[in-house]
Amino acid sequence: MNTAELTFEQIHQTIAQGGRISRDEARWLWQNASIAELCDLAMQVRGRFHTPHSCTYMIMRIINYTNVCVAQCDYCAFYRLPGQEGGYVMKQEEVYTKLDELLALGGDLVSFNGGFNPHLPLDYYCNLFRNIRDRYGDRLEFYALTIAEFMYLADHAKLDYATTAQRFKDAGVRWITGGGSEILTEDFRKRHSKFKYTVAQYFEAQRAIIDAGLRTTATMVIGFDETLEERLEHLERTRQFQDETHGLASFLCWTYKPYFTQIGGIEIGNGEYLRHLALSRIFLDNIPRIRTSVLTRNERALEGLAYGADDFDLPIEDEVTQKAGATISLDFDSILNVAKELGFTPEYRHVATAPQPSTR
Ligand code: SF4
Repeated sequence: MNTAELTFEQIHQTIAQGGRISRDEARWLWQNASIAELCDLAMQVRGRFHTPHSCTYMIMRIINYTNVCVAQCDYCAFYRLPGQEGGYVMKQEEVYTKLDELLALGGDLVSFNGGFNPHLPLDYYCNLFRNIRDRYGDRLEFYALTIAEFMYLADHAKLDYATTAQRFKDAGVRWITGGGSEILTEDFRKRHSKFKYTVAQYFEAQRAIIDAGLRTTATMVIGFDETLEERLEHLERTRQFQDETHGLASFLCWTYKPYFTQIGGIEIGNGEYLRHLALSRIFLDNIPRIRTSVLTRNERALEGLAYGADDFDLPIEDEVTQKAGATISLDFDSILNVAKELGFTPEYRHVATAPQPSTR
């Protein structure tokens, strides 16, 4: 259909009939639909997967095991170059202390996220993850690294992605998140993170992770200088990858925090975030779980439940975003009350006891 002929009624009908919208239709919606119209469509697609008032959450922490990194992304306020003052690597005992604190607070999900540290060999990671699995069993689950770190480690160890994924699996790893994707266009990566691998490599690595029988997720970060077309390209690549692999357990979009970074900038408002969340829910019709980001938007993120999201984390720590201006509240009851006031019934989602995937 000629894009000049697109109307809200026609797109509405496609969605009401269980259909899929095209990139042109997504662009049209972003440029023409009101927030109420986007909300209406997003909640229709949400309804294909979830009952209207349901939502789930987890209490989790991100452990930033090292801040030493050679990638030099210009939007990052967290890293230190090798040898630079303030660089650190956590000892295993420090990691255990953080895991024990999380369990004491009722949480059971940990996400490891550090830098591309040339002094840490693959064995550091495999030993750490094996020891955590031995010590904690299924009492907690961990997202071992992001895909970006996974790629660096594979390169550094001179191993292909399939072998690296198998090494992690043998060490007790079950999940590697889709973190480090930010905006998945080659142009964006050249502008902001030219040492952080190409989009093609990103998906190649994620495919190897899925093929090894590990689980993974999709992520996206908005609010840099990305264009609408770049956002649409990211969503389109993600949907296509999911059509091919069915390996993405969820999609999480958070927002760039611009404080103390090289490129600076201004944070986007909640209205823009909610519009994007709704558009993502409508477009990603093959990913059941859409997550809204309390980490970067605090309790206002929960408004996203009414714009298509169905899941969120209650984080207790993430140095990467905190260094760039994120603030974290441990008053879980207040945050959960926001969801309840919006008409949702939050239920704790235990990743640790969720069924584990079989090898594809
Ligand atoms: S965003 Fe990650 S990869 Fe990029 S500089 Fe920061 S720590 Fe390194």
